[in-house]
Amino acid sequence: MKLSDLLMQEKLSLSFEVFPPKTDMAFDSVKHATEEIAKLSPSFMSVTYGAGGGTSKYTLEIAKNIKEAYGVPTLAHLTCVSSTRDTVKRKIEQIKEAGIDNIMALRGDLTPELAASDRNDWDYRHAIDLIHDIKNSGYDFCIGAACYPEIHPESENQREDIKYLKEKVDAGCSFLTTQMFFDNNLLYNFLYKIREAGITVPIIPGVMPITNANQVERAIKLSGSFMPQRFKSLVDKFGHSPDAMKQAGIAYATDQIIDLFANGIKNVHVYSMNKPDVAAKIQNNLSDILN
Ligand code: FAD
Repeated sequence: MKLSDLLMQEKLSLSFEVFPPKTDMAFDSVKHATEEIAKLSPSFMSVTYGAGGGTSKYTLEIAKNIKEAYGVPTLAHLTCVSSTRDTVKRKIEQIKEAGIDNIMALRGDLTPELAASDRNDWDYRHAIDLIHDIKNSGYDFCIGAACYPEIHPESENQREDIKYLKEKVDAGCSFLTTQMFFDNNLLYNFLYKIREAGITVPIIPGVMPITNANQVERAIKLSGSFMPQRFKSLVDKFGHSPDAMKQAGIAYATDQIIDLFANGIKNVHVYSMNKPDVAAKIQNNLSDILN
């Protein structure tokens, strides 16, 4: 199923992101975790391409299994920055062969080596180059791309970031998923600005439940997200107790999601970090809201 069709539905829904295993040995446990999340029947599941510490080699295997065994629509992430056109062409073909209809087209993060290398030698400089290749592949994929309510860290300013975002959408994106954020007002401001810039495709807010104190630093480093005082107080108070922090983090994410739904968002994407219990608790907290 194409996510462009799904996102047109009026019903409120949750989707979950999972990541592939970091090592071959971890494959079975990650597969099991993703299956437990699929059993929650989310609106769709996305499988990252190497992000979150996983390798890219199992993205398709995990996505195909979720779709075929549990009937959950899947979104396969694909990055391009360190790839050749031939490699990407083959990856696109493999996604088609796996029966997956949706691709999240990403540039990928720049390693220090990549950032220092000569960009004239690169086949892909930005996600838009990948979007063009998927569009020209001859296959009819539904394409999504990333967006950043708090600006991409490499951008000079938000106006420039939104200008390039509009170009990605015009190149053929049917939806955009956001980087994590912890203050919904940042999303609402961003939505106002992108709508004003003429970006009309559905925006899927990405919400990350922070369930242990160590995750906080990593999340800020990864996303550059602003941590509201309300969230910092919660970590200060409960961070030392794993169970209490988990409960508080789930409650905070639930609260964020309820506010998003109350303000017109129809689908929220939860960065599940491959934790079925966290995904299930958030979904249970919203059971009457989602019905
Ligand atoms: P781009 O759209 O290329 O943007 C990168 C920077 O370049 C921005 O500053 C932008 O303003 C600027 N820019 C864009 N187009 C142009 C242009 N034409 N000319 C000049 N400047 C331009 N990483 C992974 O490795 N695997 C994943 O699975 C993964 N999933 C993600 C999912 C989501 C929802 C998000 C938000 C991020 C994800 N990432 C993933 C991280 C992502 O790869 C990084 O954030 C990366 O640094 C940027 O990717 P992008 O696709 O947004 O890049």
